[in-house]
Amino acid sequence: NLTDKFDRAFKVLKGQGQITEVNVAETLKEVRRALLDADVNFKTAKDFTNQIKEKALGRDVLTAVKPGQLLVKIVQEELAELMGGEQEDVDLKGNPAIILMSGLQGSGKTTFSGKLANYLKTKKGKKPLLVACDIYRPAAIDQLHVVGDQIGVEVFSNRDEKDPVKISQAAIQYARSNGHNVVIVDTAGRLAIDEQMMNEITAVKRAINPSETLFVVDAMTGQDAVNTAKAFNERLNFDGVVLTKLDGDTRGGAAISIKSVVNKPIKFIGTGEKMEAIDLFYPKRMADRILGMGDVVSLVERAQENYDEEKARKLHKKIAKNEFSFDDFLDQIQQIKKMGNMKDLMGMIPGMGKAVKNLDIDDDAFKGIESIIYSMTPEERNDHKILNGSRRKRIANGSGASLQDVNKLVKQFEETRKMMQLMSNKKNMANMMRQMG
Ligand code: GDP
Ligand code: MG
Repeated sequence: NLTDKFDRAFKVLKGQGQITEVNVAETLKEVRRALLDADVNFKTAKDFTNQIKEKALGRDVLTAVKPGQLLVKIVQEELAELMGGEQEDVDLKGNPAIILMSGLQGSGKTTFSGKLANYLKTKKGKKPLLVACDIYRPAAIDQLHVVGDQIGVEVFSNRDEKDPVKISQAAIQYARSNGHNVVIVDTAGRLAIDEQMMNEITAVKRAINPSETLFVVDAMTGQDAVNTAKAFNERLNFDGVVLTKLDGDTRGGAAISIKSVVNKPIKFIGTGEKMEAIDLFYPKRMADRILGMGDVVSLVERAQENYDEEKARKLHKKIAKNEFSFDDFLDQIQQIKKMGNMKDLMGMIPGMGKAVKNLDIDDDAFKGIESIIYSMTPEERNDHKILNGSRRKRIANGSGASLQDVNKLVKQFEETRKMMQLMSNKKNMANMMRQMG
């Protein structure tokens, strides 16, 4: 997939001290291939990589101290730029502000209408009104009512009226007389673009003059998403895009394509079926996501800032020769502590962000381990194999830990050592930390 491709492209560069013009070109070729695979059209991909190349040369990548990282950074920045640069909020002018949803059936309009209402209610103190304008499926009206009940937002519907223009106009009247300052109009979609649907939603738009027309699209639909976006934009000239179903493994390559084809900002993303699964769209974060490396770049930077390269080389040799000792372990702990808040740091590792959020880690996490190691004699620290039962008992007594804790630490240490030796052919810190995480 796209991320694997980028991974491969950057593998050459990360942790590499020297970049030549040749491998800049190689890497950018990989980047271009990755973009093409993600349904980005040829011209966009080509323009993009050419731009990167220019930027890279302009910023003297070839002579930079850390050329690989600089190039990765440029790719990230440009990718974010390609997707809109800055986060753009929804336009809420007018009283009531009127938001119209458009998109194919199943794209997530009804779900997103609820999410947006909930967001505006809880985060912006608004009093929204949801309007059911999907007149073809009675179940769609029920669905919106269920959503409304769930989030405590009123739903306007009229099962006897078959004209969405009349329903939406009546809803706006109702909103005015009942103090609703935002009206969110959920509409019907078809499985494919058709004339009747387009005419209908165009008529609704003309009649209610929304401050914001949002186009909702399933991020998993790839190139289809781009074609649909194009068709809707030609008819509706919408104001913003909502990318749904960006949960799980969906990487969001669609975000690049859509933005570059219709040139409208992506404003929100949907990341699940629950009402809370809504996020503002931040191009920079999406670039990270597409690149699949969390904030690995800054992680690498921070790690390197704090890590003496000479020391690292020596350590690497020791690990390879299976000479890694408790002393080295202690040293590692100091390094990690120096690198700053553990939680911050772990949050930068791809896939760790969410897991860490609910976890309580502080620098004291190492206290127990440290005091056990400090209670060892230099001889023991240098060669853990001499740690027999009576030595362990003495260490436990000295450190205030239980014998069980000491045994556990020694066991973990042995396992870590084994794993490190296995990994010792991998040079860079980022990889090592990723696997340790
Ligand atoms: P509509 O036909 O455009 O109104 O689409 P719906 O809102 O009814 O959504 C279609 C299906 O997609 C439903 O099963 C939703 O639960 C699901 N869905 C909507 N948004 C998301 C999302 O962000 N993530 C996931 N996983 N499912 C979603
Ligand atoms: Mg619907």
